Parts: sequence; structure tokens; C-alpha cells
Amino acid sequence: MNNATAWVRPGSPGRTAAFGIDLGGTKIAAGLVDSGGTVLATTSAPTPATAGAKAVLDVVAALIAALTPSADAELNIIGLGMGAAGVIDAASAKVLSATDTILGWAGTDLAAELYTRTNLPVRAVNDVHAHGLGEAWCGAAAGKDNALLLAVGTGIGGSHLLHGVPQTGAHHVGGHMGHFASPLATGVRCSCGRTGHLEAIAAGPAIHRNYLALGGDSAVADTRDMTARAYAGEDLAIQALHTGGLAAGIAAGSLANILDPELIVLSGGMIGAGDLWWDAVREGFSSEAIDPLQHLIPVPATLGNDAAIIGAAGLFLADNTNKDHA
Ligand SMILES: [Zn+2]
Repeated sequence: MNNATAWVRPGSPGRTAAFGIDLGGTKIAAGLVDSGGTVLATTSAPTPATAGAKAVLDVVAALIAALTPSADAELNIIGLGMGAAGVIDAASAKVLSATDTILGWAGTDLAAELYTRTNLPVRAVNDVHAHGLGEAWCGAAAGKDNALLLAVGTGIGGSHLLHGVPQTGAHHVGGHMGHFASPLATGVRCSCGRTGHLEAIAAGPAIHRNYLALGGDSAVADTRDMTARAYAGEDLAIQALHTGGLAAGIAAGSLANILDPELIVLSGGMIGAGDLWWDAVREGFSSEAIDPLQHLIPVPATLGNDAAIIGAAGLFLADNTNKDHA
């Protein structure tokens, strides 16, 4: 399916490029990326999540159409890569399952639906894998054959990349690192319905919930407010932020013991939470990683909000992923 003829502008043998889409429950970001990983243009729109999958894909097509004039005649655009919410079968670009954040998203055939709308070949992975692919192609983990990305934001996910290829697993759910048992989350309910998982104590909203559970000020509206309180010296805010960072660090150390990556990259909103969080991450990592891995202190991602766009386009442009999809 993905071997459809590339869309080549007439008489344009020039630079190769691809579109990259980062599709989440609230926002769709689209970019045009060249074969060196440079983002040439971006645009975005809110996700019409309650209007259903077809409406969402119509918006994707409109964003692609809006970006197309940015492609000068020298560009040879070879495909549309997507990092999307849900469990994605990367081989067929189908959404196997998803929460109901986007109405009717589960079962969507992204390749067929988007080919109809754009005439471009389509490849897709889960959005966290797209993040990982971006960082492994031209971000913090560039040049690494074995990299681990742990994204700590509204939720927690991850991607283990071997030779630049995200390991999506036998059932396409590889990378659900938020649902990794955490010793600091015992008894705390997780978004998956179970208890004791990392996401329940270390994701951004979970840190805020923990602050309130510890007896924090109910006037503190969210994690950002709470983090400001922590830096102002409020003990309970410091404690909740520290617990979240510690849990993320312990998980990173445990995963390092299993996977032995060359590099561990942390991404997501929490990496902007400053030293109170990062010191806790390093403490947790050091407490858990076995001796030969103590040097493998996690580092921050470098591509920011463009990571998933770049990684999604990389499904067509990054050499190592092309091999896997050929
Ligand atoms: Zn869970």
C-alpha cells in the first residue's frame, strides 16, 4: 500500500521532501520537511475531535493543501507521514484502537483515507514513536543506533529505537511506558484503569493531583501553577514535583537495565520544569540503574514541538526507517 507512486512535481528532479503530521486529540500540526530534516513550513489547526474521524482527516488534507504552495518547484514530495494518537499498525497505517477522544478514530484506515484526499502515499506510527523517530533522526539521539525516548507530559509514553526504527512490538503497543509499575504509585489509579503505574504519579496532571492529595492548596489550578509554587519554596509543591521526577527517573533506570540504550532522551512538557524536577529524575535514575549504566544520565530532547512532525516526515525521509517499510 505504501509503495504507491510518489507524487513528483512535473519537471522537478530536485530536493526530496515529505509532509509530517502530528495529530493529537486537541491539535493537528503539519509541516513540510526536507531530506535533511529541516522544517520548511508549518501550520496547524484544532482537532475537530467530536466531529469524527473523517472530519479530522479533512482538516489534515486542508493543512496539506495550505502547505503545498510552500513547496517550490525544486521539491520532490514523496509522501505524507503521520504521528497519530491511538494504537497504530505501522505496516498498514490503520488505527487499531484508540480512546474516544476522537470520535470513531479506532478502525480508521489512514493510508486509504488520506491517499484519497491528497494523492500521496501515507505512513503512520503512534505519535510518541514519531517523537522518538524525530529525536533519533536529527535531534538529541542523532547518530545513535540504540536510543530510548521517554515522553513525560499530559500522559507518559516512550519509544525504543533500534537503528532509527521505533520498536512497535508484536501487537503494535510497544512503548506504553506510562503503564510501567512504579514503586511510588502504589494504590494510585491510572488512566488505563489499573493501579500503581508510572503515569498515575509522574505525568503532569498526576503531579498536580498528588499535590492536592497531599493537602495542597485547592486554589492551585494546574501543574504549571504548582511548579511556580515549588520554585517559590512551598513544601508540598516541591514534594509533589520531586515525587514525579523521582518516579520518572526510577522508570528510566529500570528501562535502561532492560534495554541498555546508548542514550536516554526525556521529552514532553515536564522537561521544562527546571532543576527541582531534573534533580529528582537524576536521583531516581542513579538509585535504579545498575553500575555499568550509571553514566547514562537522561538528557533533554532538543527538537521541541517540531519533533513529531520531523519524525513523521522521517517515515519517508530517514534512511533507516525506509528500509523497514520497503
Ligand atoms: Zn496504566
